[in-house]
Amino acid sequence: MKKSHYDVLIIGGGPAGCSCALWLKHLGFNPLIVEIRGRLGGLQNDSPYSNGWILGKNYLNGKAFSREVNKQIKGEKIAIRFNTQITHLKFNNKKGLFEIVIRKNDSISEATSEYVVLSSGVSPNTGGLEPSSQVLIGPGHLIEKSNFNGKTVAILGGGDNAFENYQFIKKQRPKSIKIFARHVRAQFPFVKKINKGDLKVGSFTIDKIGKKINGEVFDVIVVMYGWHAVNVISPFFALKTIKGFVKTDLFRRTSFNRIYAIGEVTQASHPCCVTAMADGIIAAKDIQNRIDSKRVASEVKRKL
Ligand SMILES: Cc1cc2nc3c(=O)[nH]c(=O)nc-3n(C[C@H](O)[C@H](O)[C@H](O)COP(=O)(O)OP(=O)(O)OC[C@H]3O[C@@H](n4cnc5c(N)ncnc54)[C@H](O)[C@@H]3O)c2cc1C
Repeated sequence: MKKSHYDVLIIGGGPAGCSCALWLKHLGFNPLIVEIRGRLGGLQNDSPYSNGWILGKNYLNGKAFSREVNKQIKGEKIAIRFNTQITHLKFNNKKGLFEIVIRKNDSISEATSEYVVLSSGVSPNTGGLEPSSQVLIGPGHLIEKSNFNGKTVAILGGGDNAFENYQFIKKQRPKSIKIFARHVRAQFPFVKKINKGDLKVGSFTIDKIGKKINGEVFDVIVVMYGWHAVNVISPFFALKTIKGFVKTDLFRRTSFNRIYAIGEVTQASHPCCVTAMADGIIAAKDIQNRIDSKRVASEVKRKL
């Protein structure tokens, strides 16, 4: 089987991975994006909401932003493998290369790369609850598509997502809506908008079968328990982590210094599209410096 060679393997085509690929391409390198889904853009594909936080993007919603990302990355002719996963990843010390096995359905292909960038993002925490039409996990489409009109709704969680989704759900005129939070961590403007009596703070009990919270039955339970890192290379490399998120240095190098981690899979201080994209740039520039300094050293040797 012929192995394709890439300068950098990027695992995950969300804002972080795509930004890294774009910069690497512009810096003259040959990256490969491996994406498990059929499109780029990551979590933004799941956001029907207008995104007013990206300067110059003028309140595009998440889906529209993703469409632009797909168009731009494909237009740059960056190598992408959609609906694929890494099934084997090993660093060959002698060759100084990663050996990679990529699977798409039943077909397997092999590749090599000098560096790996992990950008596989996050997934919402379930808190041990089974997702169903009555138990909705995480923000985004699921909330947008569901009908809360006339229903009793419990939101579990004390962060921004719980409080922001309270507002989205409320627009649908539920019969009642309550937030159950052990602690409140949400930002002030969100907390300010909650109606008196709709917030319960402190420990609460969940009867998973009866859909009861503190003994009260709800038609729908919305779980907003935050996120966990999707560290897809943990079977192959035991990278250092903090609370499950991959630990990096200033240059986004992990504990295996040829592997970078960027975006939400790391413990970003403020995870969002712009910080994820900035991470991609930092990793791309560091990789450029490392590859170039090797090239310059050998070129200088030839010139002497
Ligand atoms: C509903 C919602 C609304 C949001 N609104 C905003 C907003 O208004 N403004 C803002 O800045 N941010 C917003 N965000 C957050 C923003 O989307 C994230 O911060 C950003 O997408 C993180 O980028 P990322 O590339 O690190 O990770 P992700 O976007 O999670 O991308 C990770 C990628 O890796 C892929 N992947 C996972 N596992 C594998 C695997 N095994 N192999 C290959 N690929 C894999 C995933 O499919 C995905 O494409 C919102 C998020 C949600 C859910």
